[in-house]
Amino acid sequence: MANKHKKKARKTPQQIFTEIQNDVDTVLKILKSNNFNGKYRETILKLEDCRPNIWINPKNNRIERKQSIRINPKTNLTEYHPKYHCGKPICPVCSFFKNRIEVKKFYQTYQTLKAKPEFKKAKLWLLTLKLPPHHPLDTRDQIEFINKAFRKFWRYTQPKNSTQIEQIKR
Ligand SMILES: [Zn+2]
Repeated sequence: MANKHKKKARKTPQQIFTEIQNDVDTVLKILKSNNFNGKYRETILKLEDCRPNIWINPKNNRIERKQSIRINPKTNLTEYHPKYHCGKPICPVCSFFKNRIEVKKFYQTYQTLKAKPEFKKAKLWLLTLKLPPHHPLDTRDQIEFINKAFRKFWRYTQPKNSTQIEQIKR
């Protein structure tokens, strides 16, 4: 491919936002078409609650969960409700925020390590494994595929070249 070596263009928040919404649609479609005896009823409801609760905050152009504010008709006071999250592992919205936190932790660790002299030359890799939305029965095969790919990748990280052997001898 001609553009193989080109640096990937960073996605805009709008593009990421649209991708998340499309992923939720796909997951919902799959769950609904396999919802025998209401097996996925609870998950479907939770995902449908989670989906509209994100937005791109115009203040910082970041994807965030919306703060829900309501006026209590009895007391006439403004009530702030906790930001909704369904917490389902299958939910693309929740996965997005979970990943963002993990990436942040990764870079914090990376900075701390880099500051230590013994890790000055160390190179850390961040690997994100993501399964595309798929039929519930295909999950096992998909995970096996990912595990196989990961094992293959893992072997690449332990090359037995001459430099390493020399270091071991010392
Ligand atoms: Zn969710």
